[in-house]
Amino acid sequence: MTSFPAQARRVRDSTLSPQRRLYALRECTLHCAPYGFRATWHHLVVSARIPRRLADDLDALVRAVDELQRARDVVLPRAQEYAAGRRREKATGRRTPQTPPPWNSWGWSRIAYCPDPEHHPTAPLATVAQAVLDRYAAGIGVDTHCLVCGIERRRPDRACPTCGVHPDGPAARWRAYPAEERWQRIWHRELDDRPTPLAP
Ligand SMILES: [Zn+2]
Repeated sequence: MTSFPAQARRVRDSTLSPQRRLYALRECTLHCAPYGFRATWHHLVVSARIPRRLADDLDALVRAVDELQRARDVVLPRAQEYAAGRRREKATGRRTPQTPPPWNSWGWSRIAYCPDPEHHPTAPLATVAQAVLDRYAAGIGVDTHCLVCGIERRRPDRACPTCGVHPDGPAARWRAYPAEERWQRIWHRELDDRPTPLAP
C-alpha cells in the first residue's frame, strides 16, 4: 500500500482508466477512514455522487478524494503533534497515557466509527473530524457523550442513535442481515434511495 498523496494523485489523473482511479480512491479511503472503511465509502458515494457507471461523471472521484483530503488535513497535524509529544515523553521515561487519542488507530477510524455502513453523520468528513478533536481536547468523555453530535449518551455500549457513531470504535460489531449483500450494493454504488444527480 502506497501513501495517501500518491494514491490521491492517481485518483485525479485523468489519463488513468476510471477503474484504476476508483481503486486509488479505495486506497485513499483505507488510509483515511474516519467512519471506518465501509461507512466512509458509503458517505463518499453519496456526498460526491459517485455514479454506478464511473464514466457518467468522472469528476465525482475528484470530489470524493478532495473531501477525504480535507478530513486528513484536519487530523494529520494533530496526530503528528501527538506522536512528537509521545516521543519526547518516552525519551524522559514517561509511560503511555491511559486514554489513547481517537485518531490513534488504523485509518483513524476510531475518530467516529460507524458499524452500520449506511448510518453515519451527514456533515462533511472534515467537519465531523474537527468536532471530535475539539470535544476530545475539551476533555469531554466518550463514555458520557457522543463526540460527534455532543448529545449525552444514555446507552454507552450502543451506537449513537442520532449519528450512528459507536464509542467502541472498530471493536463494535454490527450484525444486521444481510450485511454482505448490502455492502456489495454500496461498493457498486447501487443506491436506490439517493437523490438523482442534476444534469450538467
Ligand atoms: Zn452522535
